[in-house]
Amino acid sequence: MTAAAVRVSRVLETIAEACARAGRDPAAVTLIAVSKTQPASAILEVVEAGVQHFGENRVEEAETKIPAVNAVSPRPLTWHMIGHLQSRKARLALPLFRQVHSVDSLKLAGKLSALAAEAGRTLDVLLEMNVSGETAKYGFGAADWQTNDETRRRLWSEVEQILALPGLNVHGLMTMAPIVPEMEQTRPIFARLAALRDALAEAFNRPLVDLSMGMTDDYPVAVEEGATLVRIGRAIFGEG
Ligand SMILES: *Cc1c(COP(=O)(O)O)cnc(C)c1O
Repeated sequence: MTAAAVRVSRVLETIAEACARAGRDPAAVTLIAVSKTQPASAILEVVEAGVQHFGENRVEEAETKIPAVNAVSPRPLTWHMIGHLQSRKARLALPLFRQVHSVDSLKLAGKLSALAAEAGRTLDVLLEMNVSGETAKYGFGAADWQTNDETRRRLWSEVEQILALPGLNVHGLMTMAPIVPEMEQTRPIFARLAALRDALAEAFNRPLVDLSMGMTDDYPVAVEEGATLVRIGRAIFGEG
């Protein structure tokens, strides 16, 4: 087994254990290997270990790397945009990615929808929610959605407008937890995102099946709280 294959199997095992603790089916959790900053050779080792989904966070980097990896991959791969995307770079991002997890404004959503419609397709997206309240984080402000009527009114209005955009398929929500000393401290953040998903799904009568949450330091807790997409860099590629 290659080092990459050992790391991939450990991560899958950890996901399966978290699913068992939560009474979930491991088939409902998709591993996305976050390949930002990694060269094509390292990505190929992870492809050879059986991984299908990859995440990138910068369009400039993805623009050259994704076609290069696709050209030599033994199988078709699925690419996810997980980092902040400026509206003016949306046109470059559209052909590269199957799914954008980081839709964090009405403006970006409108731009992506228009570009997708122009290309005669639809784009799968997740709405990035800032549920921790950290000011340095991107995402729709949603930290106090359970207690603040004003937050809820604004958020519901923005989500409603995005759901009406013809070029986007909104599959769910994404978040990043704060960096904390103990993984367990991330649990309320992930639970808050899951509850927000449930509330929006009910309010707008949409399934919103996906929760993109959990990274190397916190994915077991995220899976216990309902993650369907985990975005894992260091545990797959090594600490570097
Ligand atoms: C880098 C990154 C990850 C993966 O982080 P690790 O801690 O290396 O697992 C996940 N999500 C986003 C948005 C990232 O930028």
